[in-house]
Amino acid sequence: MSEKFDVIVIGGGVVGCAIAWYLAHFDLQILLLEKDLDVCSGVSKANTGIIHSRSYWTPRTLKGELHLRSLPWIEQAEKELDIEFLKTGALTVAFSRSELEFLKTLKRRGKIKGAEILTPQEARTLEPMLSDKIFAAYYDPETRVASPFQLNLALAESAFLNGVRFIFGQEVTGFEKEGNHIRIFTREGEYLSRWVVSSAGLSSSYLAQRSGENIPSLRALRGEYLVLDRECKDLVRHVLYPVPVGETKGILVSPTTDGNILVGPNLEVAEDEDTSTTKEGLKEVEEGGKKLIPFLPVSQTIATFSGLRPTSPDRDFHIFFSSRFPSLLHLVGIESPGLTASFGIAEYTGDLLKERGLKLSEKRDFIFRSSFPVFRKLSWEERKKLIQEDADWGKIVCRCEEVTIAEVKHALLSSPGASTLDGLKRRVRVMMGRCQGGFCGMHLPFLMAETLGLEEREIVKSGKNSFYLGKETKEVRSGAPLY
Ligand SMILES: Cc1cc2nc3c(=O)[nH]c(=O)nc-3n(C[C@H](O)[C@H](O)[C@H](O)COP(=O)(O)OP(=O)(O)OC[C@H]3O[C@@H](n4cnc5c(N)ncnc54)[C@H](O)[C@@H]3O)c2cc1C
Repeated sequence: MSEKFDVIVIGGGVVGCAIAWYLAHFDLQILLLEKDLDVCSGVSKANTGIIHSRSYWTPRTLKGELHLRSLPWIEQAEKELDIEFLKTGALTVAFSRSELEFLKTLKRRGKIKGAEILTPQEARTLEPMLSDKIFAAYYDPETRVASPFQLNLALAESAFLNGVRFIFGQEVTGFEKEGNHIRIFTREGEYLSRWVVSSAGLSSSYLAQRSGENIPSLRALRGEYLVLDRECKDLVRHVLYPVPVGETKGILVSPTTDGNILVGPNLEVAEDEDTSTTKEGLKEVEEGGKKLIPFLPVSQTIATFSGLRPTSPDRDFHIFFSSRFPSLLHLVGIESPGLTASFGIAEYTGDLLKERGLKLSEKRDFIFRSSFPVFRKLSWEERKKLIQEDADWGKIVCRCEEVTIAEVKHALLSSPGASTLDGLKRRVRVMMGRCQGGFCGMHLPFLMAETLGLEEREIVKSGKNSFYLGKETKEVRSGAPLY
């Protein structure tokens, strides 16, 4: 007989994990099922990471409503999750008198204290590298930048700490009624729950269709990016938005929480969820970036990537109960600003389930998460103390990002822990620096294998069969002291 859960959440992206985390505040048995081997493996792993302020909400849409509903959660989330949203502020830049109207709309919409429309001179005082062709800029002090990985992971860790179970490698394929419960089928097994929340990103419309809904499939709209080296850290301090001309916020230049600069994204239809980058796409991104910052040092690009927006035809979020399964809630079309809105979506989901009959009695003993130290960010004194406690703090495995063996081991052994190289990368930034894994990529499979008790050949990059080491090309002795 299957174990019965109160709620099963499908999907370990930022939205699924925010929902699991929110519901973990109440006395409930919760399970999260994810098809990949880790959380943050879908849309949430590749985006700009901006917590858009209230100036950028879209009126008369559900996405706008949930965006606004999310913002009051930010400070509480910082405390509970022990993460920081970098309050960079933003400049939206107009290049002509006609674009000025949009800046006025942003100001009216946001009603943010301290927000103002700046002359080109004032804007360039804040951002000296800005183009001298600008006509005006809207300054918004409230925009923040998050690490999409850290937010997703912190939500998952906090949910786990508060009793949520995670099972990976479980691709949900269908649903069946069983009394007032729902039986969920995956390729590997079956699970039973009173309530189900499907937040499956790009597959959300497919799962809704599998439960009998007649809804259109989502379109995957790709956005490509350039990542500039941390050497460029001081190039821009605010998020720089252009005035949008099409269906998105346009190509931005943005600082990141880790000191890199992100340029992008563009917008193109992706066939078969293809996340490759293209020469033309990256050229477009470069040109968009250079419009804002003419001397954009693209030669400092250390990586390129793309993300896929799961878009519904009307470009809004759709959150609705299944017509055949009254306790199955679908979240479809959660594209931008889904990261910003994740707390609002989670609270709204809780409210919808409660209205339908889910009992929410608050836990008295909800545990706040504490983040693990990041060696690169510590003072010499703090580093010395940690090394005295554990010599692994004194062994650097990733030179570019100064990641120690202690941090890698913790990322592997924490819960939910990294079981893939990409999972490690998102947790501790190995393979994310200037050499992109040229040095640590050689050592990590061995360290992972040793820590997890696996064979080196079993180590995967991301998916089930993405083995990192094919076969031996030289005689490398297993267990040799490589680092
Ligand atoms: C280019 C780009 C830029 C963006 N920039 C921003 C920004 O700056 N600010 C902002 O607020 N938002 C931004 N967004 C939007 C934001 O990234 C998304 O709204 C958010 O990440 C969606 O999260 P999710 O959890 O719904 O989806 P996902 O992260 O895709 O999570 C869904 C999960 O479900 C799993 N899954 C799928 N099918 C199944 C199945 N059958 N069974 C089990 N599991 C399954 C997937 O593996 C995945 O892990 C951007 C998006 C893109 C693409």
